[in-house]
Amino acid sequence: MAKKHNTCSFCGRDDTAAPLMFRSPINNETFICGDCISSINSLLDEYGFAPAQQVGSKDPKATDTALGQDIKSPADIKARLDEYVIGQDAAKRYLSVAVFNHYKRINQSNDDVEIDKSNIIMVGRTGTGKTLLARTIARTMNVPFTIVDATVLTEAGYVGEDVESILTRLLQEVNYNVKQAERGIVFIDEIDKIARKSDNPSITRDVSGEGVQQALLKLLEGTNVNVPPQGGRKHPDQQYIKVNTQNILFICAGAFDGIEQKIAARLNTRSVGYSAGLDRNKLDKNNLLQYIAPQDLKAYGLIPEIVGRLPILTYLEPLDRDALLNILTQPKNALVKQYEKLFTTYGTHLSFTDEALEFVVDKAIEFKLGARGLRAIMETIMMDLMYNTPGNNVKEIVVDKEYAKKQLNAQDSTRLSAI
Ligand code: ADP
Repeated sequence: MAKKHNTCSFCGRDDTAAPLMFRSPINNETFICGDCISSINSLLDEYGFAPAQQVGSKDPKATDTALGQDIKSPADIKARLDEYVIGQDAAKRYLSVAVFNHYKRINQSNDDVEIDKSNIIMVGRTGTGKTLLARTIARTMNVPFTIVDATVLTEAGYVGEDVESILTRLLQEVNYNVKQAERGIVFIDEIDKIARKSDNPSITRDVSGEGVQQALLKLLEGTNVNVPPQGGRKHPDQQYIKVNTQNILFICAGAFDGIEQKIAARLNTRSVGYSAGLDRNKLDKNNLLQYIAPQDLKAYGLIPEIVGRLPILTYLEPLDRDALLNILTQPKNALVKQYEKLFTTYGTHLSFTDEALEFVVDKAIEFKLGARGLRAIMETIMMDLMYNTPGNNVKEIVVDKEYAKKQLNAQDSTRLSAI
């Protein structure tokens, strides 16, 4: 009697043609061959599904236990932030408490009382450290974290990315382990760019404004979302990954250019309410951001529901001359420390005079570049030295103000002011 051959249910070849044959655990007549397993694996790879971390994996504990283990109090988080971020005490405290509580609530055992998450919104000029704070927090807590830019988001059906693509980024961070992603932190930058453009949304179609806010609202509220594995635009033939956003902490940030006028208007007209306790004569008119209240965000164009879903509102101080000087020298990875370290690799001891550093800061202020410009200015000053020093057996270099000035003057300053 001829031997019965097993046939692969996928490619139809029998075990004389296919190398390996695996029987289904539930049906004796069903087989899959080694070649088909390989091609399916490649397909999974293409979709970003790592086999060891299958979507919906029941036991993500192995890696989860490492998350934020050594963090015992909000003060611990703030102390870590202090190592990298200069000033911004108010924002640091708010963030530390919110992230600490987030960490506690995702680790709470099943209980009758559920602790609600408190999403955060940070308002502050560009280059004051919002992204740096968020990045440092993520490193500190070791929870899944991603940064997304709200400017790429548009209402469904228009050019741009669907709001759900925010979660694609988070999934990619954790190799599509849904359980881990569902405990992560998402930093949404430039949230002010999706503010409603006009008071009357019916006049013009506001595809990157209110529509996006409405879509974002669902994510912030906590819901099941169908996420396109590769991001971008959703389309009907696509497979989706279901992600529940209930335990995902959202930290939003934006510069909200011009919001000071809204704050001033409110402070000038209100005699009751949020600002009632403030003495108008004692207001610090140069830093109105410190008085920011939820209604200012509404006046700026965020819909009330979004503002309601971002209950923790904090602000970042503008960076003054002293703060900029500190940023150059104090943080763990301060620019000056970085250059000094780089030069030790050339066998050279590098240092800067105080006047040289003050000159750098003054230029950053003059070019209106703030902290963002410090690196560009330093690079311009250091370029020749980085070119000439290696291999030339230079033991000592002191960068003084004259040298810094000469190097910067040799450059086209319009290049710097355009940053
Ligand atoms: P934002 O997100 O507010 O626009 P960033 O966090 O991206 O600003 O800051 C830009 C750069 O400026 C950072 O990479 C960092 O080097 C520096 N910087 C800004 N603010 C601070 C700060 N408070 N402390 C230390 N460095 C800062």
